[in-house]
Amino acid sequence: MDMSHGSIMDSKIVLADRVLRIKPSPTLAVNAKAKALKAAGADILNFSVGEPDFDTPEHVRNAGKQAIDEGFTRYTAVPGIPELREGVARRLQIDHGWDYSPEQIQVSCGGKHGLYNMAQALFGPGDEVLIPAPYWVSYPDIIQLAAATPVILPLTEEKDFDLEADVLARYATERTKGIILNSPSNPTGSVYSLEALTAIAQMAKEKGWVIITDDIYDTITYGDASLPHILNVAPELKDQTLILNGVSKSFAMTGWRIGYTAGPKHVIAAMNKIQSQSTSNPSSVAQKAALAAVTGPQDFPITMKKAFLPRLDFIMAALAEIGDVPCVRPRGAFYVFPNVSAYFGRSFKGKTITGSVELADYLLDEALLATVPGAAFGADRFIRFSFATSMEVIEEGMKRFAEALKRLE
Ligand code: PMP
Ligand code: GLU
Repeated sequence: MDMSHGSIMDSKIVLADRVLRIKPSPTLAVNAKAKALKAAGADILNFSVGEPDFDTPEHVRNAGKQAIDEGFTRYTAVPGIPELREGVARRLQIDHGWDYSPEQIQVSCGGKHGLYNMAQALFGPGDEVLIPAPYWVSYPDIIQLAAATPVILPLTEEKDFDLEADVLARYATERTKGIILNSPSNPTGSVYSLEALTAIAQMAKEKGWVIITDDIYDTITYGDASLPHILNVAPELKDQTLILNGVSKSFAMTGWRIGYTAGPKHVIAAMNKIQSQSTSNPSSVAQKAALAAVTGPQDFPITMKKAFLPRLDFIMAALAEIGDVPCVRPRGAFYVFPNVSAYFGRSFKGKTITGSVELADYLLDEALLATVPGAAFGADRFIRFSFATSMEVIEEGMKRFAEALKRLE
């Protein structure tokens, strides 16, 4: 797997610096490779990309079809259709008790695009943005595309990947402008504790940081208690907080490309300016489908969760049986992130496994298992399995994983 930032030049056209600074999304790259191998006839089990293995719910699909049939196929308002922004505002009020007006909401072409708009609107050269690692693959690159500097805060499995106040203090500088939170996290499934959020809130208040809270997995949690959230810990931070969410994960709508951001009016207005000069608006048809998702019945994520939980239990048991791939039990999302470093230094057919990239390559080549190396998430001692796939695939996959590890000498 090529994790390099380089590019291949096959003409005289010289590319812009900004594109040389970033890498293609590794999750999407592994998924594409796994799909290509599968199409060529290989018996690949795909644990790579994180997307629910469910169809978009019927009432949502029907809303999309109806939009097409009714000719709702033209440009829409740049920030998204008013009824969807109202629907999102109502959702945030009902689910969390937060007050946002439709002018404080932007609908974007997926959550990733919302983050991109935010970074373009908020950050520039000289700005540092704190990103706790393991992080979702796209955060550092989206920050770099805004010519700002990602500053990586190390989290540890010993602390269940929670953020500690002293780590925060160690990495904060005069140039820190913001922090990205993701709870439940991709790739660890961990959630921030009340103490961590209190420490973040205190520092953010003191220093005037922007808090970006990526809540895309907030409907997929495995505990009983509701998740602690920075805005509930410190409601007074609302003026310096941007909430990112969307329907990709909660309504199995990854391909429809609808995400949304809630935040201060002037930031949303700046993001709208960027959207107006780039994508114009998210797809009209997809917005109508998303409207049905956010305003309709909310039992779909609960149905998915019921399917995910036995898979998670099975994987945790299978990992425990292997014995030397410790894994913090995820409290949300649909990923496990075992520590595979016990196998570093071992080899197969003369080739040594030196890190997560080599291990993921080995698993793909020798066990036909597609996983994402921890290096892509800033945590090289781990690999990520998405369990948003069938129990059948998981059972066979865990068997192949255990056998492949055993073959390493
Ligand atoms: N944040 C996190 C942590 C994610 O895992 C994803 C999934 N791709 C996103 C944001 C963006 O999701 P999308 O662009 O598909 O809405
Ligand atoms: N968020 C998913 C993942 O991590 C989807 C792929 C992507 O957008 O990175 O696999």
